[in-house]
Amino acid sequence: MAQIPDSVIEEILAKADIESVVGKYVSFTKRTGQNLFGLCPFHSEKTPSFSVSLNKGIYHCFGCGKGGNSIGFIMEIEKLSYPEAIRFLGQQYNVEVPEVSGGSSDGSDKKTKERVSALLTEAARFYYSSFISPVGEQARQYAKKRNLSKETLTSFGIGYAPEGWDNLYNHLISKGYTDEEMRVSGLFTVSKKTGKLIDLFRGRLMFPIFDSFGKIIAFGGRSLGDEMPKYVNSPDSLVYKKQEHLYGLNFAKKAKSNQLIIVEGYMDTIAMHQAGINNAVASLGTAFTDSQLRLASRYAEEVVFFFDSDKAGQNAALRAIRMMLKFLKKMSGLKIRIKIAYVPDGKDPDEYIRNNGKESFANVVANAKDVDDYLFERAYNDNCDADGKLDLYKYQEDIILYGSWITDDLRREKMASNAAVYLGANYKTVLNRMDEVMNSALAEQAAADKRDLVRTEKQIVKQREEEYSEETEDTSVQSSVEVKNTKDDIVFLQELKLFVMAVRLKENLATDIDREDVLRPGDFRGANMKRIVEFFLKNFDERYGINEPLLINELSKTILNGMPAEEVYLRACDQFRESSNYDVKRDEYLMTLYDLRLKQIEGMEKMLVKYLESATGSRKDDLLLRYRRLNTYRDHLIAKKEQL
Ligand SMILES: [Zn+2]
Repeated sequence: MAQIPDSVIEEILAKADIESVVGKYVSFTKRTGQNLFGLCPFHSEKTPSFSVSLNKGIYHCFGCGKGGNSIGFIMEIEKLSYPEAIRFLGQQYNVEVPEVSGGSSDGSDKKTKERVSALLTEAARFYYSSFISPVGEQARQYAKKRNLSKETLTSFGIGYAPEGWDNLYNHLISKGYTDEEMRVSGLFTVSKKTGKLIDLFRGRLMFPIFDSFGKIIAFGGRSLGDEMPKYVNSPDSLVYKKQEHLYGLNFAKKAKSNQLIIVEGYMDTIAMHQAGINNAVASLGTAFTDSQLRLASRYAEEVVFFFDSDKAGQNAALRAIRMMLKFLKKMSGLKIRIKIAYVPDGKDPDEYIRNNGKESFANVVANAKDVDDYLFERAYNDNCDADGKLDLYKYQEDIILYGSWITDDLRREKMASNAAVYLGANYKTVLNRMDEVMNSALAEQAAADKRDLVRTEKQIVKQREEEYSEETEDTSVQSSVEVKNTKDDIVFLQELKLFVMAVRLKENLATDIDREDVLRPGDFRGANMKRIVEFFLKNFDERYGINEPLLINELSKTILNGMPAEEVYLRACDQFRESSNYDVKRDEYLMTLYDLRLKQIEGMEKMLVKYLESATGSRKDDLLLRYRRLNTYRDHLIAKKEQL
């Protein structure tokens, strides 16, 4: 099976130089020699730790550890597969990428995807033929009622899913599709009674959902009467992530307009196209997402949003604006102009066009407001009473907040100076307040991102801990009170992790870690491992940490789990990913240590309880004292763990 030829990949890497590829998403703020620096597009930060090396042709983030070449960058940021990223760059840099069939490393996955794609197309055919057959009468009536023309019905592939539980199922079986293929297609659910697959869409007008290339990836179904829910959509599936697509984009991109109009649902989109507004698209039953904004930016320089003029619509507008501005801040190289529009009289666009015509609607679009002008007016209008009296206190709050969202310095300054007129204040004071709020929001975001990162790492630790507790089920009790039955060479995964992390902390283990939180031979169960830790502590240099070659030399003299210890150690180094963020590294080390010690305490407690049952007199007192001490120590560890 064919693959994309190496020569093509070479040509792409030569033409798609890392600076221009990354530069579309990141603004470089610093240049030193062959290196560029900017804010990382993959995590939130205030100071640039994202770097691009021009001579190596790669990017690397010191904050989150992501890195790679141009193709890797596109894969990461556009969420594309390797061949898709090559195709994406090929289009931008005019490199012909030949169509290849099958092949590549993810062969079986790709094959399933192709089968599911074919299945979806077959389903569309089935829905269409039902629509035009006698069973589709009611659906045809409905389409007529909604003024959908014949051309519209055909070009949007509208169909009908008949009543019944297994019409589509039986049709696809007859076409040779398997249950498994149907299961992952998103068109079926599993019957709770029989456990069999049943049609998800029944008695509904069907809208195929296309990707931007016009391939069917999902369906939406509308009830013909008042049955609820009014709309049912395919769930995310192997070929469909609803947050990453825009309904109608495959048509809208042909309009070759530099503008996209964002409306609410597929009926709105279809109505607009039918009225000759060819650049309308819709998000698919969710709030507009980052991915959708990025997708839109590939095809247009400007997006115009329509929101309802009621309270809910107004709030939705603010949330969407906040999200988009935040995202644009992160993607500082992504240029797209956001405008906000309202249909006069609060009608939806579809209805407005029917009543007032296409030209009048074009006028509404032309009068859409830039997002900062919109926010400026919003702060005023929201806080003005019927007599036109402005509540200055509330106005100030709103305008400072909105100003803090605007990341373009000039536009923020303009907003501040316009607001200063109402506030009767110096514009610089207003601007300073906006800047303060903006900076503290950035700091909060960065902290939240860091917590996310730590949480992810902790989940990894937890997962390992579970594996660990399985493998130690039998030995943990005896070994922690009196090491008896433990083999000398035994080492547990969690212990190895702790050791590897201690090595990685280098000198910080001495300078930044509480003395009691430094690992000890007693934290390990096997005699060989205890000796290794002794060696580590003895040869630890407070300025540099351990000399690793020396450590490995020592390891090569002993065995762990029946294997050369150096090999076990090096494998563990590969297995436990090293975070480039020091705080994460330290916390992960501490987490591992506390978990290990807590586990040990648990074992000792069980043992003490067992001894206590038969103990009397001073022996009993002694055991009780130990038990209490253990409890205190445990609480202490838990408190420390919670502080992480
Ligand atoms: Zn990063």
